[in-house]
Amino acid sequence: MWSARAERVGAGLICRWLLLAAWPLHLGFGALVVATGALAAVTEQTGIADAVAALAAHYVLGLCCSFGLHELGHLFVLSRARGITAITLERTLWRLSVSAHGRISGRAALLAALAGPGSCVVAGIALLMLIPQSHLHLWYLAHAVFLVPVFGDGRTVLSVVLSRYRQVQSHAE
Ligand SMILES: [Zn+2]
Repeated sequence: MWSARAERVGAGLICRWLLLAAWPLHLGFGALVVATGALAAVTEQTGIADAVAALAAHYVLGLCCSFGLHELGHLFVLSRARGITAITLERTLWRLSVSAHGRISGRAALLAALAGPGSCVVAGIALLMLIPQSHLHLWYLAHAVFLVPVFGDGRTVLSVVLSRYRQVQSHAE
């Protein structure tokens, strides 16, 4: 696991965080693309070459970029929230995460949780309107599922909403 804590998160740190995430998966996929591309070239099968190119585009622009945008959405809100003294960026071989230190308001926590899936959904809608034939929008729109409370983002949204509801109720009593 790689982890870095910083008071101010710069572009260099963000690149080290995102670009090396899930590198064994990238290595395996890259080797598969090179081998299949070589096979397509040797056998002069343009159908295989086209399929490999489409698969590689979905892997990079769909899978990898959508998860990168999701985490950048969280980071963008957290790095601007009042009361946050530092941010920790983490990556394991398979996942990325961002966590904040200091005091965070319920509103900022809610916005940060929504910003990850939300930025992907906005990008997905834009891709659907601009290049629907690419089907790349499906990767981005699928991030809406992270708002279900079995995932961390959905749990944060639910707990902030429930605590607000309880506050309103106790004021009403
Ligand atoms: Zn998230």
